Amino acid sequence: MNIEDLYQELILDHGTQPRNCCALPSANHTAEGFNPLCGDKICVYLKIENQIIKAASFTGSGCAISTASASLMTEALIGKSLEEISALSADFKALLNTEGASKASLEKLRALEGVKIFPARVKCATLAWHTLEAAIRQSTEIINTPITTE
Ligand code: ZN
Repeated sequence: MNIEDLYQELILDHGTQPRNCCALPSANHTAEGFNPLCGDKICVYLKIENQIIKAASFTGSGCAISTASASLMTEALIGKSLEEISALSADFKALLNTEGASKASLEKLRALEGVKIFPARVKCATLAWHTLEAAIRQSTEIINTPITTE
């Protein structure tokens, strides 16, 4: 079995049996993302304590690539600091850029590199990461604050 087959199997596995695919009641950061090109929808849930991701999950409906990417992402996040995640996110986006390099630090996330030859699918693969960044920026408390009328 060559590395491409292994990566394809990993995407298929995470696309059909996603990990951490559930709402997270203890989440203190959440965000929703939508990729109108494909119809992928995702909600990312994070429990962040002392700048560390203690727990991460997602819910949503989308194609196999967006689901696999979200599943692999949540696995990669748990236990990492926000600083490490910001570097990981940049490395992942570079991986899907035609001129980008594949870094060893990406581990299993490298399985998605093959997507870069299909520009429309790159948005499927990066949706979870854009949503993650939004979730880190906003806490659920802010999102849930009712709009007050003046
Ligand atoms: Zn998609």
